Amino acid sequence: MGSLPLNTFNPLDPAEFSDESHAVIDFIADYYRTVENYPVRSQVKPGYLSKHLPNQAPLFSEPIDTILEDIRHDILPGLTHWQSPNFYAYFQANASTAGFLGEMLCSGLNVVGFNWISSPAATELENIVMDWMAKLLKLPPCFLFSGGQGGGGVLHGSTCEAVVCTLVAARDRTLRKIGHDAISKLVVYASDQTHSTVQKAARIVGIPPTNFRIIPTSAASGYSLTAHSLRAAIKADVAKGFVPVYVCATVGTTAVGAVDPIRDLGKVSNEFGAWYHVDSAYAGSATICPEFKHYFDGVELADSISMNPHKWFLTNMDCCCLWVKKPSELVDSLSTNPEYLRNKASEGNEVVDYKDWQISLSRRFRAIKLWVIIRRYGVINLVEHIRSDVAMAKQFEMMVSMDKRFEVVVPRKFSLVCFRLKPRFDGDDASSINQRLLEMVNSSGRAFMTHAKVDGMFVLRFAIGTTLTEMRHVEMTWKLIQAKAEDILLEDV
Ligand code: PLP
Repeated sequence: MGSLPLNTFNPLDPAEFSDESHAVIDFIADYYRTVENYPVRSQVKPGYLSKHLPNQAPLFSEPIDTILEDIRHDILPGLTHWQSPNFYAYFQANASTAGFLGEMLCSGLNVVGFNWISSPAATELENIVMDWMAKLLKLPPCFLFSGGQGGGGVLHGSTCEAVVCTLVAARDRTLRKIGHDAISKLVVYASDQTHSTVQKAARIVGIPPTNFRIIPTSAASGYSLTAHSLRAAIKADVAKGFVPVYVCATVGTTAVGAVDPIRDLGKVSNEFGAWYHVDSAYAGSATICPEFKHYFDGVELADSISMNPHKWFLTNMDCCCLWVKKPSELVDSLSTNPEYLRNKASEGNEVVDYKDWQISLSRRFRAIKLWVIIRRYGVINLVEHIRSDVAMAKQFEMMVSMDKRFEVVVPRKFSLVCFRLKPRFDGDDASSINQRLLEMVNSSGRAFMTHAKVDGMFVLRFAIGTTLTEMRHVEMTWKLIQAKAEDILLEDV
């Protein structure tokens, strides 16, 4: 009698792992070599993929070469190529070799360090890397594990998660003082430039939608939230019996890259006892350069601060750094201690259990990725990487301002340039021509930009930061924009 060949399926056979990983790496290397040739914004129509793929999962195993061939043929055309050097949309998700290697180590080792004992090195490396990052960003000691004041940092997958966690801690801190039934009194403050993640977080944590204050900004303040308008909004609420619970300031807003006055807003938030969060998702990376450090002036007044290495720190998705002055406030809101996780180290209070600093229990070993990036490139190269993007943005801004048909709408601070075709005569619908211009550039497949609306104006955003972008790409795209603008202006005569 024969037996069933139970040993033939080994999904983690080291020899196969090595062979097939090499095939995938070669595939990706080839992708990077040719990424410039793909239309940057995918040109497919909704539903295209189901025409290419079978509607049932395969019963038997398929070779990796066949799968890679299908990716080349069916998936790549449906991708918007974020790693294309001509990608200037949203904010970049800049990949790098070290970021990829770190991600591979994270995924390959595949440990789940939810508490210290579940993988001590994962927790301890995260403690160390968060302090390294804090020092690179010149954050004050109150946010460092080694700062001796009880602070520390944690890696989340996204700013959205970080904001939810800090808002939960803020909510509970306030409700412990005023009673848990008073949740309908809590008010969250943001500006009309604050990322929508804060509004989403407020909804998630149960702040009534009518208690989310969106304070207007204007060109006069460079689209920054002023302390004067924050104070006025808070005072009006307090007079009606509301309780300020959370203020979010931003360094590098999504639409136009504005910077809120961190110290001034911090003073107001502290005066009224609101949790003060600084979101520097995009521009936080720039503060590793001394010339951008001043944007964090006053950050010691914050309760928490976050930034996304996956935007501008050569870190493959995903990675968000969150520092908190009093991590115990996060833990008070987020910790659970089921019997099956109990252990001596946690009970001895000698260790960090990151499960209590985040929403989920399971967590990725992101620290190894950030650690590999910092070690592999060194601070010198990381600073140079930021500076070269900023230098290209500066040149682009100059080219725009030298063309009389265009105007730079918001003075550039980092690597984002906001500009538009000027209205040609009184009453000209500048928004509509800029919308057309954007669509013509994007549908050409040769570059991809996105837009913002400021003061009712439709503005084109040119965000530089994709790792492969060089000045020749920026110049080529500017020529493309000019040529498309020419077509529009000629059509309209
Ligand atoms: N905050 C700012 C200022 C952003 O620009 C972004 C994304 O662009 C976010 C938050 C959201 O980040 P995440 O996707 O990591 O949640």
